[in-house]
Amino acid sequence: TNYSCFSFGFQIDECLGQGSFTRVFKGTKVDIREGEEHRTQVLLKVLDANHKDYWEAFFEASSMMSQISHKHLLLVYGVSVHGAKNIMVQELVKYGALDLYLKRKGSVSVSCKLDIAKQLALALNFLDEKNIVHGNICAKNVLLAREGDPSQETSPFIKLSDPGIKVSLLDRNVILDRIPWVGPELLQDPPILSLDSDKWSFGATLWEIFNNGETPLKDWDLEMKRRFYGTYQQLEPSQWTELADMITQCMDYQPASRPSCRVVIRQLNNLITSDYEVLHASEAPER
Ligand code: ATP
Ligand code: MG
Repeated sequence: TNYSCFSFGFQIDECLGQGSFTRVFKGTKVDIREGEEHRTQVLLKVLDANHKDYWEAFFEASSMMSQISHKHLLLVYGVSVHGAKNIMVQELVKYGALDLYLKRKGSVSVSCKLDIAKQLALALNFLDEKNIVHGNICAKNVLLAREGDPSQETSPFIKLSDPGIKVSLLDRNVILDRIPWVGPELLQDPPILSLDSDKWSFGATLWEIFNNGETPLKDWDLEMKRRFYGTYQQLEPSQWTELADMITQCMDYQPASRPSCRVVIRQLNNLITSDYEVLHASEAPER
C-alpha cells in the first residue's frame, strides 16, 4: 500500500503549538498547475514520535476527512505516514480553536454563538447522513475561519477539525479525562462508539460555546470525573431554559434517547427565532 498521497510539495514553517498527540506547524503547500506555481498556507500536524504507534489511526482520521467534503468540515489535503514522520496537511484556519477564541474575546454575541451552534449541527447532520462517527467533537476541535460581527451583519464561519486518534483506541485514563465530552457509553466494558456518542459530545460543546469557551469540569481529577458519570450528573444548566433543555437532551445517559440531528437543527432554529424576538423586539422595522 502507498500510504503517502501527496500530489504537491510543501515546506514546514514556524511551530504553532502542541496538540494531544501532535505538534502543529504553519506551512506552505506548493502545487504546479499548468506550468504555474501556486503557494497556499497550510497547517501541518506531525504525530509525536512517542505516539507513533498510533500512525494507523492518524492515517484513518486523515483519510476520513479527505474523502468527505462539506463547507463546515476542515479540508485535509493529504497525509503521509511513510518513513520517520507522520504528517497531515490541512487547511490553515485563521482564528484557530473556538474555545481559545471565545475565552480571548470574552463577549461574543448570542446570535453569533447560535450561528456557530447551527453550523456545527449542519456538519454533524452531514456526518450522520453518511453514517460517519467523528468521535472527538469539542470546542477545541471547532476552528473559526471567520469572525462574526452583528453590527456589520456578518456571520461567523466554522470548520469542524479532524478527530485525531480514534477514541476507542485510547487508554482508559485518557478517555476518563475526556469527560464530559465523551459519551458515557465509551466507559462501559466493552466501550460502545456510535453516531449517538457524537450527539452527547455536541451537547457538551454547546455548553462550552454558551459559556464563552469555559472548560467544563476544569481541574477535576479522573476519579471525580468518573464519579460524575457514575452518578449520572449533568453540567450546570444555562439560565436560558430552552438551551439548557437541548443540552440535557443531547447529554442523555441513554444513547438511543438522544435527539436526531433534524430535531437538533429544528430546536436551534427555534432558539434563533425566540432570541431574535427578545433582542430585537424594540427595533423591529415597521411594516
Ligand atoms: P485532539 O484533536 O487530538 O483532541 P488537539 O486539538 O489539542 O487534540 P490538534 O488537533 O493537533 O490537537 O491541534 C492542536 C492545536 O492547533 C489546536 O488546539 C488549535 O489551536 C490548533 N489548530 C489545529 N488545527 C488547526 C488548523 N487547521 N488551523 C489553525 N489552527 C489549528
Ligand atoms: Mg484537534
